[in-house]
Amino acid sequence: MAAVIPRRTKIVATIGPACADAASLRALVDAGIDAARLNLSHGSHADHAARAELVRAVQEEVGRPLALIGDLQGPKIRVGDLGQPLQLRPGEDITIVCADEAPNGELPIAPAAIGEVLRPGHDVLIDDGLVRLKVEEVEGDRARCAIVVGGPVSAHKGVNLPGVPIPIPSLTRKDLADLEFALQVGVDYVALSFVRSAADVRDLKALLEQAGSPAHVIAKIEKAEAVDALESVLYESDAVMVARGDLGVEIGPAMVPLLQKRIILRALERGKPVITATQMLESMVHHPEPTRAEASDVANAILDGTSAVMLSGETAVGEYPVQAVATMDRIARAVEPSLNYRHQIPEATEDPTIGNAMSNAACDIAEALGARAMIVPTFTGKTASAVARLRPRRPILGLSHHQWAVQQMALEWGLTPRWFPETENVEDLWRHATDTARESGIVDAGDTVVITAGTAVNIPGSTNVIKVDVV
Ligand code: PEP
Repeated sequence: MAAVIPRRTKIVATIGPACADAASLRALVDAGIDAARLNLSHGSHADHAARAELVRAVQEEVGRPLALIGDLQGPKIRVGDLGQPLQLRPGEDITIVCADEAPNGELPIAPAAIGEVLRPGHDVLIDDGLVRLKVEEVEGDRARCAIVVGGPVSAHKGVNLPGVPIPIPSLTRKDLADLEFALQVGVDYVALSFVRSAADVRDLKALLEQAGSPAHVIAKIEKAEAVDALESVLYESDAVMVARGDLGVEIGPAMVPLLQKRIILRALERGKPVITATQMLESMVHHPEPTRAEASDVANAILDGTSAVMLSGETAVGEYPVQAVATMDRIARAVEPSLNYRHQIPEATEDPTIGNAMSNAACDIAEALGARAMIVPTFTGKTASAVARLRPRRPILGLSHHQWAVQQMALEWGLTPRWFPETENVEDLWRHATDTARESGIVDAGDTVVITAGTAVNIPGSTNVIKVDVV
């Protein structure tokens, strides 16, 4: 039987009402998703708990690990309660009230703390920037604004104040409750919205450590502050997301394409997974075929080197969720043969750990021998990640006896993760590694593989051997 060539780019699907029953979720998994995202900005804990349970049930059924991502809302500013939508007309004025509610005809914006920072000249962008106001006069918690671009404004729409430092902690009370919930349902990644500095990521990591959770942190890059602090944010984070929706509102859509390339490149150099998100196949919310521009957008993110591409409304509320996943799968498979191996000499890395040097050498050997696959038994997934950052042209089998590490590896470019039993000694390790490779279907008996692992088995960070083997 010919070995299966897995897709290298991973697909993240946001799980919402359009795919939340067992059959629909199974169809998404069969179409090829690798990770399921619970967007905690919307929906109840009961809904998300049922979705998380389904994800794990389907994972069990199909025998393929899936990464579960809990996406926290973060310090989001929103329109407060409005009985009726307001119709804002350009050229007229509107009064913002910094509170959950406002008298008729005025516009409540919450939380109230933003009243401390609003100043004349600030831009107030509502509903992804569709409506634009300019602050003209501030008095206490009220601000008179000129309506620059009008339109309807309904309750709870998102509000952005580009360039204005927001006096709200990175984890709000809602986020803390959502985090506790997310850890209860066993998420593998926690995505942090509106990251402004590395300290925001450190605060979340401290909470995860306190809770004894192995969950990894994805920093969502969607504010100018996070772009300015990209190096330190990347250093602290386990992964990043190019959150193009809010990023485009905060810095303008024209700046997004180059920033996407820069964020992906820096993440690649640091060996951190990077997800490219938002509006990738937006028209597929209502149509079974993507626009050619959307197909190009997905292809270009893959050529930029993204680890994963993400679907939001397309799978959460769209009419064609399965077709959207299948479209991403087809585009990725069409583009991936054009990707280059990122050979890196160890001296060139900023962080020349033994794991990095070993993974460089293992990729070179696999390349020179034209090996069928690389096999990386790993305690935490770190060495597999170090191999993946070089984008080798052959599949990488990431093996761990920790189920959480296996699920986390599902999000990593090029990794086919599998659970395998805890081993006692290095001979067992080689044997289980080649057995699992054969069972995975990505190698055939007689194929050459390159294995990199630690001889001090089950000790994190102990990678010290490269073995060429025939399975
Ligand atoms: C984004 O803004 O692009 C994003 C992914 O975040 P959210 O979907 O939470 O708005």
